[in-house]
Parts: sequence; structure tokens; C-alpha cells
Amino acid sequence: MTVEMHAGLASEGGSKLKMLISYVDNLPTGRQELLQAARMTDDYAIMKVDVRGRACTKTAEFMTASQRRLMSGDETGLFYALDLGGTNFRVLRVQLGGKEGRVAKHEFEEVSIPPHLMVGGSDELFDFIASALAKFVASEGEDFHLPVGRQRELGFTFSFPVRQVSIASGTLIKWTKGFNIDGTVGEDVVAELTRAMERQGLDMRVSALVNDTIGTLAGGRYYDNDVVAAVILGTGTNAAYVERAHAIPKWHGLLPKSGEMVINMEWGNFRSSHLPTTDYDQALDNESLNPGEQIFEKLISGMYLGEILRRVLLRLAKEASFFGDSVPPKLEVPFILRTPVMSAMHHDTSPDLKVVGTKLNEVLGIPDTSLKTRKVVIQVCDIVAKRGARLAAAGIVGVLKKIGHDNAVKDGGRTVIAMDGGLYEHYTIFSECLQCTLKEMLGDEASSSVVVKLASDGSGIGAALLAASHSQYLQPVLS
Ligand code: BGC
Ligand code: MG
Repeated sequence: MTVEMHAGLASEGGSKLKMLISYVDNLPTGRQELLQAARMTDDYAIMKVDVRGRACTKTAEFMTASQRRLMSGDETGLFYALDLGGTNFRVLRVQLGGKEGRVAKHEFEEVSIPPHLMVGGSDELFDFIASALAKFVASEGEDFHLPVGRQRELGFTFSFPVRQVSIASGTLIKWTKGFNIDGTVGEDVVAELTRAMERQGLDMRVSALVNDTIGTLAGGRYYDNDVVAAVILGTGTNAAYVERAHAIPKWHGLLPKSGEMVINMEWGNFRSSHLPTTDYDQALDNESLNPGEQIFEKLISGMYLGEILRRVLLRLAKEASFFGDSVPPKLEVPFILRTPVMSAMHHDTSPDLKVVGTKLNEVLGIPDTSLKTRKVVIQVCDIVAKRGARLAAAGIVGVLKKIGHDNAVKDGGRTVIAMDGGLYEHYTIFSECLQCTLKEMLGDEASSSVVVKLASDGSGIGAALLAASHSQYLQPVLS
């Protein structure tokens, strides 16, 4: 992983790891660096005040009057965020500022995406999203306040690989995770969304386009200065981290004043001859919507673990009459066995493994399984889940090695990884195994300073914060 990271940073197309430049170069850093940071860029200062509230009164001196107005007193900032990329999408509004300069309040709504829209046309998907957003905006209450004469601004979390052109535009490289929509690849997704918003009569400007890893990193850093990386383990998987701008040979733009750039690794696409793939993985990949792509993701993430389990059970049924003389027909249906069901079975501790029995019956139509059969099912869950968790942990160690945080640190320093995703949050055996593996790989001493911190849905607030720090109303001040 570390070797591929270097290769992906060296040149465009240099690795299966795309190592995408996010154009986010102004995450807040430690308190001591506060004043120095504030001098660097104005929007950095905004982030700081916004993030640290009272602790940052000094920083405010470096802001211009209009910036100060935006973030303090009565004239506060209202920002929206839209999060698209898993099975649900989320719309969110955040009121920033107030006397403390912090997130004053936020509200969100979650909408599930009708499956046919995930494999339909681009306009249909974006129209659906824009209309849900329009409804949400219409429900804005009086306690949210948009300063007079301002256009509403939006942070767009789009959890697919995007080649960014700026902080607020970028073209889709490919769809992943069961999305397969005609006509979006190669297009600017912000332009697509903006057109759909116009069709809804919604007057809103996208001021930041971010991957969910980037949103999670920004949101994580908001609450904890020691966050250096973000990992998503949900429907899909990915990681982002803060890289030194000097260590990105393929970056030919201006060096950011902070000297840093956040990189979206797109590690889901990692592949290597070292990966322990099996016949089941190869068949899953061949029959997937995106053969040959996202191989690491297909070994690890929530979209696939249940499906791998189904494939193993199907082979047991066919070749060893595991469920009796005939093969249960439902077991032949791709993706019928979802990871949450697998997790429920895996965590069954009842003496007769009642949950396993019930799920096999309800989900796969296999009645009356013996205790012995149920035990084998759990064993397969264990093998599949732990392989994924151990590979994810190895990926994290790869990132830590790249940034030199894989050794023991003195002076109580911490390295925090902001984590999001339903797989990590809900599949306890998976997350515990990941933690143990980190310890095993880093050693007791080094791993004692590494913290994996669950930042559920931090990416929404993170995107809103990035929309704020890239607000159009700050531009004239910056130039
Ligand atoms: C996408 C990434 C995303 C990850 C987690 C992957 O399939 O390619 O962009 O960050 O899923 O949502
Ligand atoms: Mg998400």
C-alpha cells in the first residue's frame, strides 16, 4: 500500500491508487500554530474561529471586517450539505457563527435512493436529488437565518472517484458500489447538480465538492486537532489523509500556503498480487457491475461481505449438500444475503444459534437447520469478516507508514483516524478485529498512540464547513 501511494502521487495513472488531489489545503492545525496559521490565509483563519470558538479570539484580528461579520454576532452563516454515495442520501443545514463562532445548530434528513435510479440515467438521479433538496430548503425554519442578499451555498459530498479541477468542480472517473448510470462519467458532477437545481427552481451555489473521506477528515479535525486521516468502511471503502504538498510530484499547481494537501486515495481500487483472493472473489468480480475494478473494496466493504458469504454457502450446498439434497433456490440470488444479516448471524451467542436459524429461514428460505450447520455458517462469517477487517487494518498501517506515524511517539502525542461507515459502526466483530490487527501490526507501544475515532456522519458537517470556508462571499476579501 505504501509503495503504491508513492507511485500514485508521482504521476497521473502511476498506480491503481489514484491518489486524487482534493483542493482542500486549509484544514485547521494545532492550537500553537494558530496565529501562524491565521497569517497564512484568510479562509484558514475563518476555519479556525469557526472551529475553535472562544479559543480563537486572537485569530479574529487577522480577519477583515466582513469576514468577522460572517462568522460572529448576528450575521451568521447558513450552509447546506448534500451527501450522496451509499444507499441513502442525506441533506443537511448548518448554522455557523453566533457569539461562539461554532456550529450553532444543524438539521438533516435522510432519503433512500430508489434502486432503479442507481442504474438509470444521469438526469433522473440528479433531478431526484435536487427535488429532495428543494423540499428540504423549503422547510427551513425561522431559527435558521440567511443573511440578506445572500445566495444559499452548498457543500456537495459525492462519494465516488472524482478528478477535481478546483474545490468546487470535478469530473466523475467511474461509478462504484452498485451505481451504474449512463452519461455521467467524464462529466462535471457539480454542473450536473447545478442544472438539476435550476430545473427545480432552486437558487443555490455549490461552493465545495468533496469526497466523503474528505468531509469526514474535515469534520473530524473540527472536533479533534490530531486527526490526520479518515477512513470509510461502509457500503464502499476508502481513505484520505493529509499529505505534505512537497511529497506530491504530480501536483504542478501553486504550492498551498499551508504546505499541505488532502489526498483522496481511492484505496478501494487497490489491487496487488499479495491480496489473498479466492475463486469466490474472482467470480464475484467477474459478475459485478465493474469487473476488474475496486478489488480491495470487494474484499472488505459492506456491499460485498454478505455476497461473499452467499457464494461460499452456495458452493457448500452444491458440492456437499450442506443444506440437504437440493440447493435452496434463494441462495442462487446475487446480493440476497446482505451484510447486516451476516452480522446478525455472526453475533448470535444463543446456545442453539437461534438467530442464525431464523435468518437462514427468513432470508434464504432454508428451514430447520441443525446446530452443526449453523455453527459452520458462523465459521464462514468469521473467516470472511476477519479477512476484510485485517486487510482494512493493513491499509491503515500503510497510510501511517507513509506519513511516518507508525512508530511509537513520545510526549503523549496522538494520531487520530476519523472513521465513518455502517460496517465499522455496526459490525462489532469486524471493528474489534480491525483494532486488534492494528495492534498486532504496529506493536503495543506504537499502537497505544493511534486512535480510531468513530465520526458518524461527520462528512455532512465537514462538507458544510468546507462550503463555508470556500464561500463566494469570502472571495473578494481574499483577492
Ligand atoms: C468510492 C469512494 C468512496 C468510498 C466510500 C468507494 O466506492 O470510490 O469515493 O469514498 O466508496 O464511500
Ligand atoms: Mg456515508
